[in-house]
Amino acid sequence: MSELRVVGATIVADPERELRDAEIAYSSDTGRVTYLGPVRGPVRSADLDGTGRLVLPGLVNAHTHAGMSLLRGHSDDEPLDRWLGHIRAFELRMTRDDIRAGLLLSMAEMIRSGTVAFADMYLWDAGLVGDVRDAGLRVLAATAVFGYDAVAYPAATPETGAQVLDRTSTLAAEFAGDELVQVSFGPHAPYTCGPELLADVARRATTHDLPVHIHLSETAGEVRDSLDRNGCSPIALAHRVGLDAGRLHVAHAVHPHDDADLAILARPTVSVAHCPVSNLKLGAGVAPVPEFQGSGVCAGLGTDSMASNNSADMFEEMKTAALVARGTRRDPTAVLAADVVRMATRGGARAFGDRLSGRLAVGEPADLIMLDVTAPHATPMPEPVAHLAYSARGSDVTDVVVAGRRLLAAGRLTTLDEAAIRADVRHRVARITAELGRALPSGRRPTRKVDRGATQG
Ligand SMILES: [Zn+2]
Repeated sequence: MSELRVVGATIVADPERELRDAEIAYSSDTGRVTYLGPVRGPVRSADLDGTGRLVLPGLVNAHTHAGMSLLRGHSDDEPLDRWLGHIRAFELRMTRDDIRAGLLLSMAEMIRSGTVAFADMYLWDAGLVGDVRDAGLRVLAATAVFGYDAVAYPAATPETGAQVLDRTSTLAAEFAGDELVQVSFGPHAPYTCGPELLADVARRATTHDLPVHIHLSETAGEVRDSLDRNGCSPIALAHRVGLDAGRLHVAHAVHPHDDADLAILARPTVSVAHCPVSNLKLGAGVAPVPEFQGSGVCAGLGTDSMASNNSADMFEEMKTAALVARGTRRDPTAVLAADVVRMATRGGARAFGDRLSGRLAVGEPADLIMLDVTAPHATPMPEPVAHLAYSARGSDVTDVVVAGRRLLAAGRLTTLDEAAIRADVRHRVARITAELGRALPSGRRPTRKVDRGATQG
C-alpha cells in the first residue's frame, strides 16, 4: 500500500477537533485516511512538508450550476426580471461544447479554491459526468427539468423535460458504483415544474432510489404565488407530493413560511444548500440560518451559478454566511466561525449521503486540502477555525486531494489544462456575445464604453 504523509501541519479535522504540529496520512490505493495524530517521524522524500500549512477536509459546494461559468459577469447590477431575460438569451445560444467549456472552467476554479465535491443542476450527460471523473472531483449531478415539454438547452440538445426524466435513471445506472459520481433528479422549482410533475419525480426517485435536487422558496414572491396557487408553501408542496420520501436536496430555502416548513427541512432525508452570496446579489433575502440550527436543519453552503455570484470561492461563502446573519440579527454570536466551517464541510457532505462525512478521521475518504498560512493575512493565527471563516481565501489553497488523488499539487492543477480552458472560454464567450449583439434591436442594451488599451483578454 502506498501511504502518503503530510507532516507537521496544523490540522482542523473538523471544527471540534484541531491538532497542532500533527500528521495525517492516506492511501492512494484505497483513497482513505490511514493515520491522524502526532508526527510519527521525520519527513521523507515522498511526504508533504506541512510546515506553514493548514489541513482541513475538502470543501463541498452544495449548490451550483457549473456549466454556466461562461455567464460570469454577463448581467450584473440588474433587476431580477431583466437578469433572467439576459441569462436566458445567452443560454439559448450555448451548445453542449460551450456548456462543457464552462464546466471545465468551473472545475479548475473549484479545485484551485479547495472544493472537492459539488452538487450541481444543469445539463448532464455521460460525457460531461466523465469529464468530472477525469478531473477527479466528486459530483451530485442533476439535469435540470423545467416542465414536461420544455427544451432547456435547445442549442445543446433537443431533449424535452419528459425525455430528461426518462434518461436520468439510465445515466445513474451507467455510473452506479462509481466512487466519485452520483446522479439525481433535478426538477428546477415548483413554479416551473408544477405539482403533477413533482409527484412524478417523487415516484421515479423512489423507484430508482435516487436523490432529488430542487430550488425551493428562494424569493418571497415565489412563496406568495405558491400559497395562492397551491394553497401551501413550495417547501410544504415538496413534502405533500412526496419528494422527501427519499433524499431531497433543497437549494436556497431563504423564506421558510412557518415552523412546519422548518420541520420538513429538518427531516433526516432532507439537506439544504444556503447560498448567501447569490441570495444577496439577486436581492432574494437572507436565509434564517439561526432558525435552521435551532430546528435541526442540516445546511451546507453553495455558491449558486457564476451568473449570480460571480466566484466559486467557498471561503467567501463562509465569511458572508457568518457576517450577513450577524448584521441582519444585530448579534455577533448569531452564526459562529465553527458553524460556517461545519456548513462548508459536514453540512454540504450530507447531500452526498453515506459517501462523504466532511470530516477527517481514519477510515474516512482522503478528501483534504492544504492552505498556505504564512501570508500577512494569516499572521498571527491564534484560532485556525476563525482564520478559515474570516481571513482565509481560496487563493491560499496549495494542495487538494480527493479520494487519495492529488488534483492540485503545490499550486499546480494535475488533471486540467487551465491555460487551454481559459483560452477556449474566451473564444466561446466572444462568439455568443457577438450573436447576442446581432439578435437584439439596437438601443435595447446600454453599451458600455471600454478603453481597450486598459483592459486585458
Ligand atoms: Zn441555483
